[in-house]
Amino acid sequence: MAQGTEPKKRSPFKGHVQRGRRHIPPMRDLPVQITLREFRKVALPDFLWLLTMLHARPLSAGPGATGRALDLAQDAMKRAHARGAVAGDLAPVFHGLLTDWERVPKQERAEVLAEFRRLGLYDDVVPETFAHALAVYPDAPGRWLIEPRLQDGLVVSLEEAEKLLWELVRLGGSSHQPLATHAIYLWIIALVKMTRIEHGGEPVFIDILPRYPNNVTDAERGVAESTLRAMFLPAFHNRPEAVETLEWCRRFWRANRALFECYRKEPEPPDPTDLEKVEIAVDRCVQLQREFLVAARDTDPDLWDSDRYDVLTGMTWRAIRMASHLIGHPAQWSEEHGYPAIRGLFETIVQMRWMLAVEETRPDVWHEFKDYGRGRTKALKLHTKEALQKATGKPKEILEGLLPKLEEEVNRDISEDFQDISTASTFIDDKSLFAMAEEVGMGDLYHSTMGPASSATHGDWSALDDLFLDRCLHPLHGRHAIPRLELAAESDERLPFLGETFARWALDAYFKAIEYHPPAGSENGAKSVPEEEAPAGDPRLDR
Ligand SMILES: [Zn+2]
Repeated sequence: MAQGTEPKKRSPFKGHVQRGRRHIPPMRDLPVQITLREFRKVALPDFLWLLTMLHARPLSAGPGATGRALDLAQDAMKRAHARGAVAGDLAPVFHGLLTDWERVPKQERAEVLAEFRRLGLYDDVVPETFAHALAVYPDAPGRWLIEPRLQDGLVVSLEEAEKLLWELVRLGGSSHQPLATHAIYLWIIALVKMTRIEHGGEPVFIDILPRYPNNVTDAERGVAESTLRAMFLPAFHNRPEAVETLEWCRRFWRANRALFECYRKEPEPPDPTDLEKVEIAVDRCVQLQREFLVAARDTDPDLWDSDRYDVLTGMTWRAIRMASHLIGHPAQWSEEHGYPAIRGLFETIVQMRWMLAVEETRPDVWHEFKDYGRGRTKALKLHTKEALQKATGKPKEILEGLLPKLEEEVNRDISEDFQDISTASTFIDDKSLFAMAEEVGMGDLYHSTMGPASSATHGDWSALDDLFLDRCLHPLHGRHAIPRLELAAESDERLPFLGETFARWALDAYFKAIEYHPPAGSENGAKSVPEEEAPAGDPRLDR
């Protein structure tokens, strides 16, 4: 990942505030911290009755049974308060939440049900679908509403419950959807009716409210709805009763795991790989390998100081081999399996180009590169030695076998007694790969290629979410993660193309560095080395 700091002049994070290595968006930089509360998650379960009613009879159709039920229940709460059955200086406001229904004392529950029956309202106020939905949650608040139906022998259907709840979450899961906005309106209107909202604070809003939703202009509707939502959040979540709501919401969402099965989109069969294309790409790679091997053979390493030749030759060969392996194995042609190779290739190009750019003023750069790697080997040797002291049994055996090999490697060029160890992230202290990329004009490519390739390699959340997980699509499951069943997108030709491009770049940089001119007469030098001229040990790809 990037080690450097973003150059301010061209930061794409405009509008963000930088604190250390974090870029904070304006909404997170306010004096008061705003908590994001999703209506679906922390309110909808308590709104199930209101949403059911509004789903059956929209607000524009007038109060109907919903309005009458709310008035009757509010009256019941006033009576309960008057006889001292509910606490508080003022009679509780009845909004129609499930927890509101739950708070109606036993005596008033019976009175309310009797009233519903007398007025012939019960079937409308407690629709059968709602009874199914609520019945599947044994600890749902307000269950007494559906008791008469259960006593009449209603056979609870999970399927019916799912059908209604699915619709309610689909149509009212966000406070911006009309169904939810109208439910919020009814919740607020209850406060207005009980004079808990003072006129004066929002004169325009209070004037519009009684005419909502039918007799308002579009502009008024906009004002009303945005004010409703803005007022709702603090008012709803700061009630003393909010604890009960939250408890029920938590029970509701957790219960859904056992009630309803996950829902995923059917995996699509992967496209078949176009083998002819693979063959052609592999042939091109074999050609790159031949060209490289001829050039490496015909170049004088300078036996007095071969660091430059050694490093350049190693880097280029690695790049070509990595690209060849990627290109020859379509199973790697996906971000999931191929990105580590892309990342390695990109890193190579950046480092090669950077070293070639600075070698004139920093002739030791090839030595520095080697030195950094040798230091890492020495560190590994010392860690291994340390681990060996604590190890027993099989691990000890393995480490004992490893140590002589490491000792030989560390001392191959110079004695380890003269070898530094660097813990910097690259072979140049305080110079990140990103900084190198910027200096050789590959900064943009760093962000677009190295960023996602690094994510895929390190497996950060963006990679897990993008490549390995799907979201459960059941509305009652709230978009939790499920393992993705589809195989990685094989046949994505972008990756082998990138791999080949990077290998080509590495080879071009190599040719330029060693001042090698491939035989003329062919595009990019490709196909320029006849097969009979290929060096011994023809590097056929391992396929
Ligand atoms: Zn699920």
